[in-house]
Amino acid sequence: MKRKKNINLIVGTNNPGKLREIKELLPKNLTVYSPKYLKLRSPKESGKSFEENSLIKAKFFSKKTRMICLADDSGLEIDILHKKPGIFSSRWAGPKGNFNIAINKVFNELNKKDVNWKNKKISARFICVLTIYWPDGKFVNSIGKVKGYILNKKKGKNGFGYDPIFKPLSKRLTFGEMRPQDKYKIDHRFQAFKKIKKFF
Ligand code: IMP
Repeated sequence: MKRKKNINLIVGTNNPGKLREIKELLPKNLTVYSPKYLKLRSPKESGKSFEENSLIKAKFFSKKTRMICLADDSGLEIDILHKKPGIFSSRWAGPKGNFNIAINKVFNELNKKDVNWKNKKISARFICVLTIYWPDGKFVNSIGKVKGYILNKKKGKNGFGYDPIFKPLSKRLTFGEMRPQDKYKIDHRFQAFKKIKKFF
């Protein structure tokens, strides 16, 4: 039987929730490093789209480490907020990454937009762009989306970020209430990963 070669890979994120999830998706013949483990800080996300920011991170960490890098840029788009917070999803949580602040900002913005929003279906989607960047400069990317609704209060203690207020279409539970292994099988990162897993 042919054994798979061991490959070193850096996952270009300092977000522990994302790192956990991406590690679960990856084949086990990979030795996975994180920027935190290698004491690397993330680059400035100066791009104007998920694609640009994902590439900025993947290229930065691959160049720094000379490893293959898998980076993700993701976020939440709320339709009546003209797709905000979008690429600013992590920035809404402030410098300390406090998602109570980010979720309250979502509620405040919705209140400003429509005082009656709590009685309506607020459609939204999570988006993820994954980029694999090789040390020779080659790269590929893929996009994954999951549609759902924003709830008017937090439900569940699992997951991270906006998970407690996001209920995927045709599901009973929010991402925050689901068991992690159930969320990983349907979410935006999984949808994006399916399209590029052949590269590993
Ligand atoms: P960035 O890609 O590091 O800029 O951060 C994306 C931000 O989007 C995260 O910090 C979370 O706030 C949010 N986000 C992305 N994916 C998820 C998810 O699966 N659940 C909850 N929040 C998410």
